[in-house]
Amino acid sequence: MPYETEKNIAIQAVQAAAQLCEQVRREIVPEAIEKKDKSPVTVADFGAQALICRALSAAFPQDAVVGEEDAAELRTPEMADRLAQVTQYVQAVVPDATSEQVTGWIDHGNGQVGSRYWTLDPIDGTKGFLRGDQYAIALALIEDGEIKVGVLGCPALSFDAGPTGLLGVAVRGEGATLSPLGGGTAHSIQVVSAEQTDHLRFVESVESGHGDQSRQAAVAKAAGITQASLRMDSQAKYMAVAAGQAALYLRLPSPKTPDYREKIWDHAAGVILVEEAGGRVTDIAGKSLDFSLGAKLVNNQGVVVSNGGIHTPVLAAL
Ligand code: AMP
Ligand code: MG
Repeated sequence: MPYETEKNIAIQAVQAAAQLCEQVRREIVPEAIEKKDKSPVTVADFGAQALICRALSAAFPQDAVVGEEDAAELRTPEMADRLAQVTQYVQAVVPDATSEQVTGWIDHGNGQVGSRYWTLDPIDGTKGFLRGDQYAIALALIEDGEIKVGVLGCPALSFDAGPTGLLGVAVRGEGATLSPLGGGTAHSIQVVSAEQTDHLRFVESVESGHGDQSRQAAVAKAAGITQASLRMDSQAKYMAVAAGQAALYLRLPSPKTPDYREKIWDHAAGVILVEEAGGRVTDIAGKSLDFSLGAKLVNNQGVVVSNGGIHTPVLAAL
């Protein structure tokens, strides 16, 4: 099977990172460190990136990793305590890890977009992680601009009273599966069909600043969705569409940040999950997301994710 090794390494790495994140949430009240762009980062973001980059660099030394975090600030004297904390959490998985190794692994995620690269969001939805809500560990492999493998770990997610903690996995051409994050049987998943009208609801971000909620509600309504939206942090929203829990995920540019361009790591894993589950993902103009141009989706604005069936009506409403 193509990409079998990549898939298995990615799954193991995401599971280990998810365990680290959950341990941080259980043991300490994770504190937000403010990054230069004012967005938050925590000990768990750094630890998760370190573990995943370590695994990828060992298994695929030639592959670049384009990750959200870097260790520049963590190396400064003011952050010594934080670095010690990150190292301690990494040591739960890699007992002899040193702080120097940890920062080195994190910085392995400073790679560039090229013909073959991984993109990683060690904690997607850090604000959700801090609030005790949804977040995701998102990892994808891209070759020649096409997403080939996506692994999405959602430690706080459950559907239909099933287990909490879900793992979504997709390989191009092989479909998408869902399994308990801690291990267990993987079931193939499909987007909701147009007839299952009770599932015709839409998802959007919790953060009002990350989209245009009033326009999102209007577009959903125009496309025939009458139920109120489900609000979730992170790419858990893609998982909801891929697993047939929602028909649509709208991320229309916020009027406050009209020039914002989406980051590749906020979407790649989710996109292949939904596509392999039979759904469709475009920007607001109906164009495919272009993962070949750098860390940002510079040629795309906003994101429309659907079960496929309602995609054209949604684009028309837009
Ligand atoms: P979500 O939980 O779906 O809101 O997604 C969280 C992601 O939104 C973060 O990882 C940020 O990269 C991204 N983000 C930050 N600012 C904006 C913005 N103005 N518009 C859209 N997305 C944003
Ligand atoms: Mg993110």
